[in-house]
Amino acid sequence: MSSWPRIPQSALGPLALGSLLILLAALFAGGRTTTRFAPNSAVQLPAGVERPIPPGATPTPWPLSGTYTGQMGMLRLAVAEGLLDPQAQENLVTDLDQALAYVVQRTAMAPHSPLDVYVGLEPGCGLHGIAYTDVRRVQVFTCPTLPLNRAVNILAHEFVHQLCHDRYGDRHLQADLVLAEGIATWGAGRYWLGDAPHFRAFVAPWLRRGEELPLGLSYVGLPISDMNKLYYQWASFVEYLIETYGREAFDALYVTGQGRPGSADYVGIYGRNFDELEAAWKAWVLQG
Ligand SMILES: [Zn+2]
Repeated sequence: MSSWPRIPQSALGPLALGSLLILLAALFAGGRTTTRFAPNSAVQLPAGVERPIPPGATPTPWPLSGTYTGQMGMLRLAVAEGLLDPQAQENLVTDLDQALAYVVQRTAMAPHSPLDVYVGLEPGCGLHGIAYTDVRRVQVFTCPTLPLNRAVNILAHEFVHQLCHDRYGDRHLQADLVLAEGIATWGAGRYWLGDAPHFRAFVAPWLRRGEELPLGLSYVGLPISDMNKLYYQWASFVEYLIETYGREAFDALYVTGQGRPGSADYVGIYGRNFDELEAAWKAWVLQG
């Protein structure tokens, strides 16, 4: 057992420093009928919604005490006391190691050094995650009644945020939100896709029904279902950019962001502005 240090103040605050993933467990509770905005296959996914942290605000640090289980590969894992039995904890270590290997392979980005993973207890059973990429720490909060794989799904997304920081450096902290969350969701791949083969297929039904949201929309204040939808749309947009223009151009684009959605230098890199690319993305999805 060991106590974890408090999160440094430098890690708190600006949205780009981390990402807070809030999921309402009730939305996905088995058998309960709620508004569903994604295919049934996606219901047990993280179906991510990340709540932006307003400028100047700080998320409340959770006490980081837990059972320290040591390091496996690039992961140093700690789990809140009483959250998991030893077998579940062992399975979690293996699952997270596999998840990291998967996103590393899928995104072609590798961690520079080990990262800390904390699995905490959320008494209210709301599932949420956060990445403090400058201090190499990702966290997820869950409760014993939630399937553990959902925490793994969330962490797969958070891992990609860390990989982005490692690849792009501190420019990651000012990345265009569309690209930062888009690549984190896209990079999590199968952990977010369920039965869908790719994000293009995942979002296509929304576009066919005219139910998509504008890509440049700020998700502040949006209902959870819309925030979730934006994450999948952004993943598909990233998929489109990489497939159409290649990874090298995407990398060049990523480091030009100014935080807000649509703020990267799309014209400078692709010769088309954000609106034009959004229109092209829609056409690409619909012809898929
Ligand atoms: Zn994220």
